Amino acid sequence: MNGFASMTAAQNLARKLSEVGICDHRVLQAVAQTPRELFLDGALAHKAYENTALPIGQGQTISQPYIVARMTELVLQSNPSKVLEIGTGSGYQAAILARLVPQLCTVERIKSLQIQARQRLKRLDLHNVSFKYGDGWQGWASKAPYDAIIVTAAAASLPPVLTEQLAVGGRLIIPVGEAHQNLLQITRTETGLHQEIIEAVRFVPLVNGELA
Ligand code: SAH
Repeated sequence: MNGFASMTAAQNLARKLSEVGICDHRVLQAVAQTPRELFLDGALAHKAYENTALPIGQGQTISQPYIVARMTELVLQSNPSKVLEIGTGSGYQAAILARLVPQLCTVERIKSLQIQARQRLKRLDLHNVSFKYGDGWQGWASKAPYDAIIVTAAAASLPPVLTEQLAVGGRLIIPVGEAHQNLLQITRTETGLHQEIIEAVRFVPLVNGELA
């Protein structure tokens, strides 16, 4: 137990996600163990266990729990050791991943969000996460290669640097598009890249350019 009164609410959320097609028990367990209210402003805490995206300030959102769980399932398929997340935001996706992979690196371009996310993960005793304030279009070269990269904002086009930072056999999970976006899974093989469309999604944009 971690002292949050809401753990049964998180367990209920995990049950709801299993009803909408999330099958990986490791992912459902991580959702059940993670108090999503900690990642929201107090005024929104009562909505924390609904299966919806919610505002986190600075024009950004905490993603819908279903899509967090779905992307985490995709990341886990190849049992990755080192994972890179682009778009730390509230830190909720990072907290779920940190429970399931040995090493997580996460990049965010808005400093205030990064600071809050770091505090939240510390509070949950998750210490296997490295944080970077930077532009996710550049990935995080000094820690590459990664077994998986997950991007939690929609890129107008595929950032080439990210596939370069994948290990052979690694996968990039990324929403691509503007008004209409698709979640793509791109696997790096010995001979090149293999691309698969997972499903239609709706994310805030992956900003291309200077830091906030
Ligand atoms: N994974 C987050 C989702 C946050 S929304 C969560 O669980 O809450 C997407 C985040 O991507 C925002 O915080 C936004 O600031 C960040 N972002 C957008 N463009 C970025 C870029 N180029 N580099 C790094 N972060 C970026």
